[in-house]
Amino acid sequence: MNESPPGSNIFIDCPACGRNHVQARAYAYQITNEVGIVVDQTFWVECLTCRAQLLSSAHPDDLMRMDKEARQAVITVYIPLVARALALLSLLVGCFPMVGGAVALLAVSLNRRPGFWRTLSWIGLGITVLSHGTLAVMIIVQAIFGTKP
Ligand SMILES: [Zn+2]
Repeated sequence: MNESPPGSNIFIDCPACGRNHVQARAYAYQITNEVGIVVDQTFWVECLTCRAQLLSSAHPDDLMRMDKEARQAVITVYIPLVARALALLSLLVGCFPMVGGAVALLAVSLNRRPGFWRTLSWIGLGITVLSHGTLAVMIIVQAIFGTKP
């Protein structure tokens, strides 16, 4: 069972959309067990401009008391694990035809926010474009100069 209370409004410089002094909603995401006891909780800040979910290492109440600079230090853009895994995978399988292309395109579409993981996805896409390009050239060369019946 999960619940996310309405949360409290704060102002942040959003690291996801890059806008300064935008309104955001700080809330705690609580994971409860069958009898309603909170077993784990994570803290989030949602940018009300771009709707990005930012992971916070500080409780919403603490965020309220902080100034904008201090808030900046505790919130980070949350990148889903699957997006990070795909970015890495695209580097590994980038040279394989079809599969590499599919993984790289998926990684790029999931890692759209600026940063390390987007760079990595684009490198993966670069590798796959190069390998597909080489493959295409080989097929064309084969077609032109290949053995004729
Ligand atoms: Zn934003």
